[in-house]
Amino acid sequence: MKIEDVTIIGAGPAGIATAIQLKRYGLEPLLLEKGHIGGLLVNANLVENYPGFPQGISGMDLVNLFKAQLERAGVTVNFEEVLQLDYDDFFTIETPQRKLYSRIVVIASGTQPREFDFPSEVSDRVFYEVYPIASVEGERIAIIGAGDAAFDYALNLSRKNEIAILNRGEKRRCLPLLWERTKSSPQITYHEKAEISGIEKAGNEIILQCNTPNGKQKFQANYVIFAIGRTAQLDYLSARLRERTSELEEQGLLCLVGDVKNDIYRQTSIAVGDGVHAAMKICAKIEEA
Ligand SMILES: Cc1cc2nc3c(=O)[nH]c(=O)nc-3n(C[C@H](O)[C@H](O)[C@H](O)COP(=O)(O)OP(=O)(O)OC[C@H]3O[C@@H](n4cnc5c(N)ncnc54)[C@H](O)[C@@H]3O)c2cc1C
Repeated sequence: MKIEDVTIIGAGPAGIATAIQLKRYGLEPLLLEKGHIGGLLVNANLVENYPGFPQGISGMDLVNLFKAQLERAGVTVNFEEVLQLDYDDFFTIETPQRKLYSRIVVIASGTQPREFDFPSEVSDRVFYEVYPIASVEGERIAIIGAGDAAFDYALNLSRKNEIAILNRGEKRRCLPLLWERTKSSPQITYHEKAEISGIEKAGNEIILQCNTPNGKQKFQANYVIFAIGRTAQLDYLSARLRERTSELEEQGLLCLVGDVKNDIYRQTSIAVGDGVHAAMKICAKIEEA
């Protein structure tokens, strides 16, 4: 039975940075990814706070640079979803393809969207990220939410589509610069106190029924994106591992890096810093053994 030294779950910015730094120490981490390389970052319209890009860079372009760096470092991404992570004397990792074993595990699995309960008939037109519909043009898109992600998605898609942002309350929780850009876009309308009370399909369109201060109002859209919050993605941890995470973290056998542990402080540079930090600690742990 082969036991890996280090396995990383998730190839978003945190997992990528961990893998590259571990390679610098001559280690061969096993990197597992259930979707695409780059994680949530592929959705970012314009990243303006990641040092090195004075004009800003799109999330997708930054991910392409990360991919090139992974390749140069000789890191292979294994496209496998971790279905269960357990620990006894070492970690057991189950994917649909195989069962793996590892002495150290880095959890870099980011976040999952808070879901909205919509009827299955609209599921082909309702999303939680921009990425799946990034190439659509000339469509009407409703974005539900009031945080940075909702406004960033709106600006991103407004280049080629008409956007309505629906906020169920009155408070916006986005960066002032995102709001300023939204206000100056003729392609985006913003609606406050519009709480969804029903969703139905009508041909190629979705009808959103909303309660507003002026009574019921209908919004028509070809696509809907919910950006109503995200929570840590840790559903694959076994019950007994959940009870031991703090202890294993203290022993340096389990590391959580990036958005999965950063609460509201979810930024690429923090995720990357977490990854490099974890890799350095892992290297020290392996050397002392
Ligand atoms: C619209 C938008 C705009 C943003 N703009 C900026 C910005 O301007 N500046 C900035 O710094 N940050 C920005 N961010 C935040 C940034 O994208 C995140 O902070 C960053 O992607 C977090 O990296 P991560 O690796 O921790 O998690 P993620 O990027 O979420 O990556 C986690 C990865 O783990 C994988 N995974 C999850 N579960 C499993 C499993 N069971 N098995 C295998 N793989 C799994 C996922 O598929 C994913 O690829 C933005 C985010 C959004 C949504």
